[in-house]
This record gives sequence, structure tokens and C-alpha cells, in this order.
Amino acid sequence: MLTGELMKAVYPGSFDPITYGHLDIITRASRIVDELVVGILVNNTKRPMFTMDERLEMLRETVKDLHNVEVKTFEGMTIDFARQNGAKVIIRGLRVISDYETEMQIAQTNRSLDPEIETLFLSTGLEYSFLSSTIAKEVAFYNAGVEKLVPPIVARKFKEKYKKKIFKEDFSNG
Ligand code: ADP
Repeated sequence: MLTGELMKAVYPGSFDPITYGHLDIITRASRIVDELVVGILVNNTKRPMFTMDERLEMLRETVKDLHNVEVKTFEGMTIDFARQNGAKVIIRGLRVISDYETEMQIAQTNRSLDPEIETLFLSTGLEYSFLSSTIAKEVAFYNAGVEKLVPPIVARKFKEKYKKKIFKEDFSNG
């Protein structure tokens, strides 16, 4: 990297939805790099609970006070998303050992595709090491205190989603 060049990074993921674990990584990465672009992956093979617009809205609202962070959506390969944004770094979060194997594979693949782009792993804060979007969805479903796991806008969206679902079920039963 040339002296004086800005260090830009991308942080890709599904963010279905964003949790405090993701936010922890975003906040810490934003202190390391000059500019951080959070990328929400469009063509994910997982069937998402939240639409792209909802995920975008939740992420943008959550990071609105972090001035060097922007949120975009992308399709295709992370490496292309990094290139398109002039980023030389890909940020990923590591929670537990089981994340390690897949994350390593992804990082090695990306490096073989473009050796100029480095993957930077940030270890999760201990208090979020158990947390995933899937866990948050489950806790929200059982109405068991999801506020501790996700930002307020996400907790509200969960309520709306599950209320609608319960409503529909009530309807079909009656
Ligand atoms: P993906 O489908 O690409 O794994 P996710 O939205 O689940 O997308 O995760 C995006 C990134 O955030 C991944 O690097 C993942 O390991 C990391 N991550 C997810 N949850 C946490 C957490 N609780 N703490 C730290 N990193 C996390």
C-alpha cells in the first residue's frame, strides 16, 4: 500500500438479521481501517427471513453513527465486491473453532483469486461468541429477551414478523 493511501475494507455477510455480534465486529473494524463497506450478499443459497430492503434498513439504522461505515448490497463473489470498492482487505469475524475451517477455506480461495486482497479476522467479543442470526431468530420466536442480542430496530422487526405469523396461524385455525 502506498503511503497516504486510504485503507479500505469490506465486511461481507448475510446479516439476516444483524446482531450485536456483527455490530461488535463492525465497530472494531471501523477503528482499524479508514473506510468500511458492509456488504449484504444478495444471492445467498440460504432462504432469508428478512428481505434485502429490510436487512439494508436495519443495518443502515444500526451503523448510522459510525461515520466511516457504509452499507451496500452485492451479488456474486466477495473478491469482486472488494475490487469494485477499491478495498484491499476483507473483514471476517471468528466466533468459535467450528467457524475456523470454513473461514480458512474461503480466505484461501479468495487469496488464490487475488493475492493483493487480504482477509483480516477479528475474534468476537466473548459475550457474543455464542451468538448467530439463527440463535437470535429462535430467541425472538419464543419471545425470550432478544433485546440483549440484536439492536432495537431488529427487535421491532422481529415482533412485526412473528405477530403476523401468529395472526395468520390464528386465522387458519379459526
Ligand atoms: P455468512 O452467511 O457469510 O456467514 P453472517 O451474516 O452469518 O454471514 O456472518 C458474517 C460474518 O460475521 C462472518 O464472518 C461471521 O463469522 C461473523 N459473525 C457472525 N456472528 C458473529 C458474532 N456473534 N461475533 C463475531 N462475528 C460474527
